[in-house]
Amino acid sequence: MPDLPRSLSEFEQRFGDETACAEYLAAARWPDGFVCPACGGAKAWRFDSEPWTYQCARCGHQTSVTAGTIMHKSRLPLTTWFWAAYVLATQPNGISALQLQHELGLGSYKTAWLLCAKLRRSMVVADRTSLSGIVEIDKTEITCHGKNGSMTGDGRSRDGKMLVFGAVEVQDLRLGRIRLSAVPDYSATSVHAFLVANLAPGATVRTDEWLGDCSALGINHDPQFNVVAAGRNGLHYIRRVFSDLEIWALSVPHGLRRKHLQSYLDEFVFRFNSRRTRDAAFSALLGIAAAQPPVTYKMLVSQGAAA
Ligand SMILES: [Zn+2]
Repeated sequence: MPDLPRSLSEFEQRFGDETACAEYLAAARWPDGFVCPACGGAKAWRFDSEPWTYQCARCGHQTSVTAGTIMHKSRLPLTTWFWAAYVLATQPNGISALQLQHELGLGSYKTAWLLCAKLRRSMVVADRTSLSGIVEIDKTEITCHGKNGSMTGDGRSRDGKMLVFGAVEVQDLRLGRIRLSAVPDYSATSVHAFLVANLAPGATVRTDEWLGDCSALGINHDPQFNVVAAGRNGLHYIRRVFSDLEIWALSVPHGLRRKHLQSYLDEFVFRFNSRRTRDAAFSALLGIAAAQPPVTYKMLVSQGAAA
């Protein structure tokens, strides 16, 4: 994957027009040079009017560098997609649809909202590999807000609080990847559903929660972890994640709403898990990584024949 600029101003300079963005996509898709998806040909023509379309010099097949990405057949310029994805992937607090509309001079709020929604959906798809190894599990409560920003209590949970389960991998005394889920209650059924959805079989759980019998889930309790001795303060790693989450929740304009809680959590998880891999986060948001087509037998054969 080609390197991304380290700062937003540098980014704007480098990806200021459609051609620059299209070249980045082409380099990501064909790191060793163009390969025609139809015949495997290695030579292509490009049109100045459509920088993202390549035409195979051998068979005439036209292919777009946006094929398979989130940008395919979009009416928005590539520069708009690139800028929005870069800001979402690299800025600590992301960006709201309203900010996006102003910053990019988009005609309507709806366009900006849809752009944000599509990029946020990519966050959920990215990295769904289950957590493994030693995993700390705990629960927390987050204050929810009504439409006018006030705290609400709707009677379904305690005092306007939303219930959340969290999990974090502990790797060599460092924080690994995390998962967060909004849950209706803290029952054993809810814990088990959370474990099944987020932990790989064979993972070892450290928690002071009562898990019930989870042998059927293929998940182990850490025998070294002494709940009584360690207590709640023993779960250092997941408590650190929760405290980051609380600080972040305060920065969300108008606070977190119950209706959107899981999508806020998904965004937090994506940002946290990609904190050391900004380039991969950018590619994941735009669906670039997934766009690289598998090499087919036909392509291998034709490349072999041409060599
Ligand atoms: Zn071809």
